[in-house]
Amino acid sequence: MNRPPRSAASSRPRLILKAGRERSLLRRHPWVFSGAIERVEAAPEAGGTLAIESREGQFLGWACYSPSSQIRARVWSWEEDAPIDPALIDTRIASAVRRRQRLLPTLNALRLVHGEADGLPGCVVDRYGELLVVQLLSSGAARWREAIVAALRHHTGAQQIYERSDADVLALEGLPVEIGLLHGEAPVLPGIVDEDGLRFTVDAVHGHKTGFYLDQRDNRAQVRALADVDEVLDCFCYTGGFTASALAGGARHVTAIDASGDALALARNNIELNGLSAERVDLVEADVFKHLRLLRDQGKAYDLIIMDPPKFAPTAATAERAARGYKDINLLAFKLLKPGGLLFTFSCSGGVSPDLFQKIIAGAALDARVDARIVAHLGAGADHPVALNFPESEYLKGLCCSID
Ligand code: SAH
Repeated sequence: MNRPPRSAASSRPRLILKAGRERSLLRRHPWVFSGAIERVEAAPEAGGTLAIESREGQFLGWACYSPSSQIRARVWSWEEDAPIDPALIDTRIASAVRRRQRLLPTLNALRLVHGEADGLPGCVVDRYGELLVVQLLSSGAARWREAIVAALRHHTGAQQIYERSDADVLALEGLPVEIGLLHGEAPVLPGIVDEDGLRFTVDAVHGHKTGFYLDQRDNRAQVRALADVDEVLDCFCYTGGFTASALAGGARHVTAIDASGDALALARNNIELNGLSAERVDLVEADVFKHLRLLRDQGKAYDLIIMDPPKFAPTAATAERAARGYKDINLLAFKLLKPGGLLFTFSCSGGVSPDLFQKIIAGAALDARVDARIVAHLGAGADHPVALNFPESEYLKGLCCSID
């Protein structure tokens, strides 16, 4: 390219890529990895804005700088005349809210902002009625905290906004944990959400993530629709979302396993809250990896198994170890299925692609010597959109498999 060199007067903060490394950005993938960088000029502080430029000086986007992270910058705007400022943030939040109103108008518990997929890298907002729970997980998102809160108040009228920036990824970003009230009064705990006629307690202050696994809503409904069976096994049950759904769907008996006694206590609450019979449930405090072996040795068998483990691989670098974990538990699950049984199996690991996950499950079925087929591909609902330019936003992958 024969562009004239920029004048020395143009001293805006800029990140210049190595030759040829602009390709992913031209396809609007918003992440700039450290290895793609030639140099940074007039570097801003963490969260500050810089222009991303190719070696030839082509403007590619406005990004927030994350000096301690492998993901060194995240692009928030692709237009040179649309810098990162409160007005841009207001527009992004307004569209995120509008999308949900259009797609999921009746829900009172849902994800309102899904990070990069809503044009706000590292910013996650979940709504539980009048309460919004915010996670600011990138330097840029943390830098724009005030503007994000102002826009959320403006477009949702929420009475309470609470921050839960305490996820593991903060350490990769070099950010401190931030927990506390951002607006309004402290949330009344635990809150209660309605989902397809079922009620669940949500503890936004002490619970996992923002308190509830909103991303499994559609899959809980699928389980409920297919749960009119004798024996269900819910592995990694947390506060019993799948267990309550299976009971509501007619399951005669559910065995639910989790390592956390506190989570199991909430699961019991949720079962009672819905007037479901606690006698039909065994809540087992155990390590799933070990307990599945015990169940196998006892010759137990199930009509429907849910396998929803925590994130084994937060990044691509840890995918191999994670793959072994997924294979192990799914192999055991296949062995524990009755003929004609169904396995609902999930991975929420960002480092494991949908393709790789399917391969792992195929390997597990092969080694378990079962003839299994995928009868449904599962994922998060419409409140967790997947940006076409950012496939990583599809972090929750699920397969429903049936065996002969
Ligand atoms: N299925 C749940 C979410 C699962 S979150 C829902 O739909 O709400 C993951 C859960 O796994 C957490 O509750 C955590 O306590 C539990 N956990 C993590 N490692 C475990 C292990 N090795 N054995 C049993 N439970 C485990």
